[in-house]
Amino acid sequence: MKVLAVCLALFAASLAQVDYEGYHLVNVVPETPEQVEWLLYLDGKDGIDFLKSTHQVGNAAEIIIPKDQVSRTYYLFSKTNMRYFTASTNVADDLKRNFLMRNDKPKVFNINDFNTFEDILAGLDDFVARCPSGASCTLEDIGDTVEGRPIRLLKITKPGDRKIVWFDSAIHAREWLAPATNLKLLDVIISQQDSNAVSLFNKYDFYFVIIMNPDGYVYSWQDSDTRLWRKNRSPNVGSSCVGTDLNRNYDANWLSDGTSTNPCSFTYGGTSAASEKETQAAQNYLRSIGSRVLSLTSIHTTAEMILIPYGHTDDNGECVIPADHQKQMSAANAFADAIENTFSTSWKRGTACLTIYPASGATMDYAYDKAGITYAFTPELRGPGFDPPASAIQLSFQEVWNGVVATIAKIEELESMN
Ligand SMILES: [Zn+2]
Repeated sequence: MKVLAVCLALFAASLAQVDYEGYHLVNVVPETPEQVEWLLYLDGKDGIDFLKSTHQVGNAAEIIIPKDQVSRTYYLFSKTNMRYFTASTNVADDLKRNFLMRNDKPKVFNINDFNTFEDILAGLDDFVARCPSGASCTLEDIGDTVEGRPIRLLKITKPGDRKIVWFDSAIHAREWLAPATNLKLLDVIISQQDSNAVSLFNKYDFYFVIIMNPDGYVYSWQDSDTRLWRKNRSPNVGSSCVGTDLNRNYDANWLSDGTSTNPCSFTYGGTSAASEKETQAAQNYLRSIGSRVLSLTSIHTTAEMILIPYGHTDDNGECVIPADHQKQMSAANAFADAIENTFSTSWKRGTACLTIYPASGATMDYAYDKAGITYAFTPELRGPGFDPPASAIQLSFQEVWNGVVATIAKIEELESMN
């Protein structure tokens, strides 16, 4: 492990914006716990981009390897006896093909497909028009971006002092299955055709931010070269590289773990905690409603796991465990168990630091630490692979919805014991 760490440190970093010409897409299947650990270590290092993280033996990771690191990475795989399959030797071709296929489709909001930012805004207007009787459906912009786009919140409420169930998605621009699944959650609440949706909406208000990173999301739709964009689009002074990883920018142990100080890296944490407009907007809003929030679910892809606070380590490099860990873990287990019972997929659960890798400055940790939201979750959704077909949207929704229903029931049980 140590020897390999040194090898990787010597890698020529290739972190600038690229056209993916000659990049390899590789599926890697770890067969021992040591190989899993090694892959988790590799995640995010030096331009090696894990589109799908792995967390257990036999569970494939999907990674993109920069052209100039292909041979050395394969060498490291062979040194660690890692089983791998090269799915593409030129990622640029795959991205171009998918882009052309998408461009052939009509541009109109479709709940069963991936949607552009513009179509999602139009779709939100349609949802408001379908507001359930006796309820209020309100659009509110909690902030805007450097390119002037709104960060739009849809609130579905009833009169009274009710707790809030919060869902957000697409803080990482390229993770399209996250907003697609979130829109389905919004749809099941607005439609009020599902008995669980009826009973939950009798008790709770529901808040949805479908696109937390509008500029990044729009950019990820622009061209084949931009499809894999993850950060926002704010310029960086003194660098030609654009964007900050918003999920490393929150004022929650900012920059302590898993965050790059290189503006060209896809995990660049920004110039200071909450340096970004999107982060400031979300932080201010979450603090203003925090005491009313029953649960916050910040949806990502792809790893098939549910993460709870924290992402950071202490001075000794040990993962920090929150005071509310038992309760948070019970709720996360309810979520993951319900998902596993839906389509028999295996879901890992636990603190972000222990379960995926140490990474600080995330929405979830801020929600818990600074906004007082005890139950803050980051589900990493299903595949297959990073860029699943639209047919995955309904499957993803079904399992996540079961997870949400089970988690809220568990939270009610836990809180009734207080
Ligand atoms: Zn993500």
